[in-house]
Amino acid sequence: MTTDDGLPPLRKVIEAHGLAAKKSLGQNFLFDLNLTRRIARTAAPFEGFTIVEIGPGPGGLTRALLMEGAKQVIAVERDQRALAALAEIEAAYPGRLTVIAGDALAVNWASTVHGPAKIVANLPYNIGTPLLTGWLTEGPWPPWFSSLTLMFQKEVADRIAAAPGSEHYGRLTVLCQWRCTVHKMFDVHRSAFTPPPKVTSSIVQLLPIVPAIACNVKTLERVTAAAFGQRRKMLRQSLKSVFDVPEAVLEPLGIAPTARAEELTVADFARLALQV
Ligand code: SAM
Repeated sequence: MTTDDGLPPLRKVIEAHGLAAKKSLGQNFLFDLNLTRRIARTAAPFEGFTIVEIGPGPGGLTRALLMEGAKQVIAVERDQRALAALAEIEAAYPGRLTVIAGDALAVNWASTVHGPAKIVANLPYNIGTPLLTGWLTEGPWPPWFSSLTLMFQKEVADRIAAAPGSEHYGRLTVLCQWRCTVHKMFDVHRSAFTPPPKVTSSIVQLLPIVPAIACNVKTLERVTAAAFGQRRKMLRQSLKSVFDVPEAVLEPLGIAPTARAEELTVADFARLALQV
């Protein structure tokens, strides 16, 4: 039995290559090509872009990207066991898939990806946030990628897309929404994965923007770390590690020194970072 792309069903691929999921690698595989094609279409159009995929595993999303028309996919996979399965996809789509065997956290993107690029991934849950933070903070801005279409645990997606005042609003929200417009696309029930994770997942899309207030990213992170590190405290207290007299900085900006971190907008944090 084969699928639309002439390759074996993913369950057979897993069996043939002994790809029992490893928890240590955050492996929760998607077998339903209708679902992975829906994720791929969320990131389209692909014309003129290199598509970077993190953690292709047995290749469900990779195949979907190729079926949906991606001409150039670079996939970074740490699990050596998956490489033979990925080689079969490479052979089915000559010249369109490059597999890099290694740790996505250690890749030098500037020397690996040339020209316009989009990142699409069902991320391993244990490195999803560090990868995203790295893409948003390292290197020049605007960055080397035009969009990020990523699957996270729903709780992380909620943090990325949170509004001020929400319990999910925090450091990750401010960083993401300062540098990108954020769109929550759709949820994926745990039963879609093998093995099923404990929680629902969500697809989020981030589109880089030129920030309205151009502060230094490391300084912004310093301010948000201090403010949200003590999120129950008033800013006049929590920001003491950043400013000698926080009131003297907050009041001229029209921010109440008695406010708490979650009440500030993303722009407020950027304006504060300009004062450091
Ligand atoms: N893309 C596949 C899918 O959707 O079915 C697999 C997704 S699974 C959630 C995460 C994948 O990331 C696994 O294949 C795992 O081996 C890989 N992975 C884990 N840590 C990695 C790392 N540091 N660098 C690259 N890939 C990694």
